[in-house]
Parts: sequence; C-alpha cells; structure tokens
Amino acid sequence: MTTASHSGTLHVVATPIGNLGDLSPRALETLRGVAAICAEDTRRTRQLLSHFGLDTPLLALHEHNEADVAARLVARLQGGESLALVSDAGTPLVSDPGFRLVRAARAAGVRVSPVPGPCAFVAALSVAGLPSDRIAFEGFLPAKAGARRERLALLASEPRTLAFYESSHRIADTLADLRDAFGAARPAVLARELTKLFETVLDGSLGELAERVAGDPDQRKGEFVVLVQGVGDDTEARIVEGRRLYARLGEHLPPSTAAKLAAELTGAPRKALYGFEDK
Ligand code: SAM
Repeated sequence: MTTASHSGTLHVVATPIGNLGDLSPRALETLRGVAAICAEDTRRTRQLLSHFGLDTPLLALHEHNEADVAARLVARLQGGESLALVSDAGTPLVSDPGFRLVRAARAAGVRVSPVPGPCAFVAALSVAGLPSDRIAFEGFLPAKAGARRERLALLASEPRTLAFYESSHRIADTLADLRDAFGAARPAVLARELTKLFETVLDGSLGELAERVAGDPDQRKGEFVVLVQGVGDDTEARIVEGRRLYARLGEHLPPSTAAKLAAELTGAPRKALYGFEDK
C-alpha cells in the first residue's frame, strides 16, 4: 500500500533497556514532537519522559487493548497527527506489543518509521563471542515445563545461534532444560542486566552455566538473555547420528565392533561413541 501524503507518521521508537543514557537524541526529539505516545505501561514511560523533561501526552497500548485501540489510533494518524509507539524497554514489537498497530497503520497507508536503538538480544549478541552471522530469535520459551521441553526438543538441531529471553524466576529451570535438550557441552552465553549496575556476561558450556546459576542466587536476579551456539560444525551432528547407529548395531555386535562401524559410517570420533548411554 502506498502512503497517504496528508497522514501523520507512526514513529516506532526504541527506548533504553536499563541505562537511560542510551536514549538517542533522535528518539528524544521524536518523543518531544509527536501529538501522543502509545506506551505499554504509561506510568513507566511517564518516568522516562520526566527524566528528560518531556510532557507529551501518553496513551495506553498493551496486549489486552491493542486490537481495540489500533483502529482509533489509525484514524488519528490518517487525520494528520503523528504518534510514537514505545514499549517498556528496548525495541517495540520485539517480545513486546505493537505488531497489530503497525500492521493496521501500514494497511491504511500510514507512514511507519523506525527510530532504532537498544534491543536486549542484539546487545547480548554483540558481546557474546558466539557465531553471529545467522541467528534464530526465540524470545520467551513456554512457561509450562512440558511445553518448554517440547519446544527445546524441536530446536536441538538448529544450526543458527539461538537467542532466548528469560526472567529471574525461571532462569535456573530454563538453563537446566537447555542443558538436557542440547547436551551439557553446548557453548552458551548468559547476559544479565545489560547496561545496568550488575551487568554480567557469563560464557561456558550449558552444563557449567546451569550449575553456576543453580548454585548462586545472585546470578538468578534481574533480566536475562540466553544465547546458545547452534549445531554449527557438523561434528556434533555426526556424534548424534554415530551414537544412534552404535546403539542399534550394539544389539547384534560386540561394543568395539559396533563403535568401529558406527564411527566409520558417520565420521564421528570413535571415542565419543563408547559409554555415552551411561551418562
Ligand atoms: N523489547 C525488548 C527488547 O528490545 O529487547 C524486550 C522486551 S521483553 C518483554 C523483556 C525481556 O528482555 C526480559 O525478560 C529479558 O529477557 C530481556 N531484557 C530486557 N532488558 C534486559 C537487560 N537489560 N539485560 C538482559 N536482558 C534484558
């Protein structure tokens, strides 16, 4: 759809994920200049605006009312007013509300323009030292343990680096589930409280990270991004296939012969096949 020239603009504005110094000058000017700001939690955004001396009117737009208020907001935009959309922290629409409003505005031919800025998983990726060319952003895993494990089972052979969001009360369980689903040796990074006072970026295997967080209550406080390296190099995939074959051949052959054949057929190191079923 082409944009209507008499319409206002919907500015999608990223806000800080902790450090208020990360609000960009352009974000500030945009928030100052619009007729109103659509905010997930108006009290939180009011605090941000007060810090910068702004008193732009606020409108509540959250997951429970977005479908209802989107049409009214689009009418205002079509009437020539410009609006901003913010979430509580970071980039709107990234595990945050806004997609319905943006879709409705675009469908109505209203210009939608980003003011980019902080985003927790991008910030984590930038300091993780994990492969970053291709990334699969998974956001929050299901809260229920059964659904979470099912989701992780589907992701275990994903070759891209995986990014998850997690809160303090589930981080220990999620790390344990990740370790069980992807194997204790898989490299990962846990980024906590980025840009804030207690910013911590831990790297290690999933086994090490799960143990560290389970044993240290301080490491369970705050907000988290978990990044997990994908099955990038095919050694890991070969080992999985080698072990499957070794177990099958082992039903008919002595372990040493089964391991030799499975290693030859899959290219997995023979040592990685022995005794894994006891672990
Ligand atoms: N829209 C946001 C963004 O652009 O990243 C994400 C919103 S989501 C509702 C909130 C989650 O993002 C938190 O539970 C946490 O997983 C992650 N997060 C937000 N701020 C963070 C920070 N400072 N450090 C680490 N993770 C953070």
